[in-house]
Amino acid sequence: MVNKQIAARGIYDQKVLQAMRDVPRHLFVPERRRRSAYGDFPLPIGYGQTISQPYIVALMTELLKPEKDDIALEVGTGSGYQAAVLSKIVKKVYTVEIITPLGKDAEKRLNEMGYKNITVKVGDGYFGWKQYAPFDCIIVTAASDHIPPPLIKQLKNGGKMAIPVGMPFQVQKLMVVEKSEKGEIGIKNILPVRFVPLRRVQR
Ligand code: SAH
Repeated sequence: MVNKQIAARGIYDQKVLQAMRDVPRHLFVPERRRRSAYGDFPLPIGYGQTISQPYIVALMTELLKPEKDDIALEVGTGSGYQAAVLSKIVKKVYTVEIITPLGKDAEKRLNEMGYKNITVKVGDGYFGWKQYAPFDCIIVTAASDHIPPPLIKQLKNGGKMAIPVGMPFQVQKLMVVEKSEKGEIGIKNILPVRFVPLRRVQR
């Protein structure tokens, strides 16, 4: 998976490639999907949600330029896979999931697998996680038609956010939001992606 789908497409950060090698993706997908876990595509994880394609997980992780002392926020825990990959590189990952059973399952899975530097919360990630802000890295794994202002606020100076921006159920733009050391915002458009929508109502 890493050689053919990820390194071959130009992901070069060794920390990211190693993290993708270390995290057993098959343990994050429903049992009957395990045979396809390392395929070059997203997979359903229940409740109409998906675990992203491996390449997209690697790309978004690399775009954050994560470092070992970083504190990261993820919006959209889903299976917990992206959080697990990021947690191999940074010091701490806080991750928020809006669908209660998905959040609870991911929390249990990550605990059982021994990921000690990830904390899961059920809630609306649109508002980030004020208590632990500011964050060096923010990764949003659901698409929104705008960049949530609370997330921009909770980004540290010098920090980076990766987020798919665009209309739900259409192709969105994967964007990187950078906050300079002085607090100025810069936005880069990386490539077209397709994500499930960022919801605003808890289930
Ligand atoms: N990162 C996940 C994939 C996530 S799919 C993984 O590695 O498996 C997107 C997830 O975002 C879904 O689980 C969805 O329920 C969640 N989500 C959607 N809107 C949200 C919101 N406002 N706050 C938190 N999570 C949200």
